[in-house]
Amino acid sequence: MAKKFFSPGKTHNEHYRLLIEQVKGYAIFMLSPSGIITSWNTGAEMLKGYKAEEVIGKPASIFCEPGNEHRKVNEALATALRKGHFEETGSRVRKDGSHFKANIVITPVYNDDGKLIGYSNITRHISEQFTEDDLVRSSDEFRILADFLPHVVWTANSEGNIIEWNRSFYLFTGLDPEMIKDSRASHVVHPDDVEQLRTVWRNSVLSGSDFEIEFRLRSKEGEYHWHLGRATPIKNRIGRVIKWIGAAMDVHEQKMSMEKKDEFIGIAGHELRTPLTSMKAYVQLLQKALEATDLNTSKKYADKIHSFIDRLNMLVSDLLDISKIHRGKLPLEFSEFSIDDFIRDAVEVQQTSIKTHWIFIEGHAGVKVRADKLRLEQVFCNYLSNAVKYSPGADNVSVIVEHSQGWVTVTVKDYGIGIPAAQIKQVFNKFFRAHNKKSNIQGLGLGLYISSEIIKMHGGSVGVSSEEKSGSTFWFRLPVYSAPGPDGVAGENQNPSSFHA
Ligand code: ADP
Repeated sequence: MAKKFFSPGKTHNEHYRLLIEQVKGYAIFMLSPSGIITSWNTGAEMLKGYKAEEVIGKPASIFCEPGNEHRKVNEALATALRKGHFEETGSRVRKDGSHFKANIVITPVYNDDGKLIGYSNITRHISEQFTEDDLVRSSDEFRILADFLPHVVWTANSEGNIIEWNRSFYLFTGLDPEMIKDSRASHVVHPDDVEQLRTVWRNSVLSGSDFEIEFRLRSKEGEYHWHLGRATPIKNRIGRVIKWIGAAMDVHEQKMSMEKKDEFIGIAGHELRTPLTSMKAYVQLLQKALEATDLNTSKKYADKIHSFIDRLNMLVSDLLDISKIHRGKLPLEFSEFSIDDFIRDAVEVQQTSIKTHWIFIEGHAGVKVRADKLRLEQVFCNYLSNAVKYSPGADNVSVIVEHSQGWVTVTVKDYGIGIPAAQIKQVFNKFFRAHNKKSNIQGLGLGLYISSEIIKMHGGSVGVSSEEKSGSTFWFRLPVYSAPGPDGVAGENQNPSSFHA
């Protein structure tokens, strides 16, 4: 056993003595070989409530619980002598009679000659609980933080009963904090999710393990939103759950967009496979026609294959455009050109492939625009091909070109199936297809989204009006281009700075 040596005033300098005397977090005092208190530091005074003059010369047993205190002190000192130290965590008494939990270490101290000169006693207060002030302060801080968060936050007791909700919960559900004294949320949880939520929560409370579940919560507007709920138990030092803290995050948008993406992948797969299947069939027919050296029929089949390749090419381009738009990397090459010439040329090209409808141009703008010609053609052709695609019973489409107050508007009007009023606001949304389920008309629901993004990148705007079974009118608007004058200042028709939504 290694002995510790202590020579007051010889091996320990004055600074060291002052240090020990002034330590506040620990009660450090010396006992004589018979257990009488011989020194007393500031920490001891603070922890036990006695001043040095009140305890020096008294037996250490005054700090023990009443009962067989002398025997306990003697046993502790004997153990310290035998083992080199004594350690215990237990209850101690303050001067005012109150009890506190402490960790005590007693070590024998020897002089240079190896003679026992006493014992050092270091007592550390162990806080089993926060003080009342601590609790009030930390729960106030928690409440401020919880109310500040945009997510729903709650606390529950060890039995799993809700103690309180934060501000976001009341804001989202529209419930009155005064009204829901029972703090139950089950009436704002979707009826289909209540049972599972209860089961998972009950299991977590019983096992003391983390809680996690997705469930739908009803908003004050009466709509259910998907939430990701999580809770974790707060345990005391001995591992018993004393409280739960939980939070729920609104994941509705993410969940819906995941669903839309899944649906889109299905549609895209189908759309890509259709022309591929047709191409395979026509390639087989072409082979047969070639074997029979029937050149006319071979040419017919080759043209068919060509049109399916164009379709595939368009689909793949749309997919690539979407990815470029998302990354903000859709490059535009601007040039200035007459909008009237542009529309006339584009209609001429389109009319050669559109056999079912006549395209009529009305109006005349007489101005130039500054735009990426190919991208603008993509927008215009998308409007035109939709007008044809969604008006199978009609035989004409009108294109109207106008110029007013610094803006050029190009309108494509058809006399087709129209769009239900409830869906019209969404037609420019990504992946949206108004006629997806009802009709056999193919599409990815990307063309109008891409068109509106392209027009917005030009500082313009898009819009639609429609009536079911009567037809639709789609338009896009661009700022008129006006070349700067000799002084470098733009003329009257300078692009307006206001932005059309
Ligand atoms: P796609 O035509 O490939 O589905 P779009 O983005 O071009 O995709 O159009 C989105 C949806 O808007 C279409 O699915 C269709 O329901 C509707 N739509 C577009 N143009 C018209 C139109 N001229 N008439 C009726 N509905 C249209």
